[in-house]
Amino acid sequence: MDSPLDLSKYIRNVEDFPKPGISYKDITTLLKDGNVLKQTVRDLNGFFLDDQVDYIVGIESRGFILGAPIAVERGCGFIPVRKPGKLPAETLSQEYSLEYGKDAVEIHEDAIVRGQNVLVVDDVLATGGTMQATCQLLERVGAHVLGIAFLIELTFLEGRRLLSGHRIESIIKY
Ligand code: AMP
Repeated sequence: MDSPLDLSKYIRNVEDFPKPGISYKDITTLLKDGNVLKQTVRDLNGFFLDDQVDYIVGIESRGFILGAPIAVERGCGFIPVRKPGKLPAETLSQEYSLEYGKDAVEIHEDAIVRGQNVLVVDDVLATGGTMQATCQLLERVGAHVLGIAFLIELTFLEGRRLLSGHRIESIIKY
């Protein structure tokens, strides 16, 4: 097997995006290299490998890019969690607080049968608000969140604190 690549080298920091003071982790530079993308998916899929999973849940939009190939690798289905107003059928919504104002995530109310096991995937763990709301949403529809996998974790924001009680893995920690 090829020697592992340092995935952090393929992430571009864009300072002051989308607003002053934010150092944005741009993963387009990682996604466009086929070998790097392949290893990223392999590494994410290596987490919770012994668990029996019914679905991979990905959070819009970069959680879709990373989550869908993991579902293919595992031979299971993929469920999207989306921003408000994007899903066409009946949805459940979960609000969460941002620094200024509120946002929400949504899922189709019939996406999961009570008791099914899911792994949740997203690109970045920052404050943890998005993932906390996603887990609350999944629990409301009766899913069992087996684990949460991120490509990047911004440890200084202590997002894990909001997600206590869950098993969390990340590939790159800043
Ligand atoms: P949070 O709810 O604060 O954990 O933010 C998580 C979501 O916001 C993820 O879906 C990320 O895509 C995005 N995000 C937050 N901070 C950053 C960052 N510094 N660089 C890139 N994406 C980020």
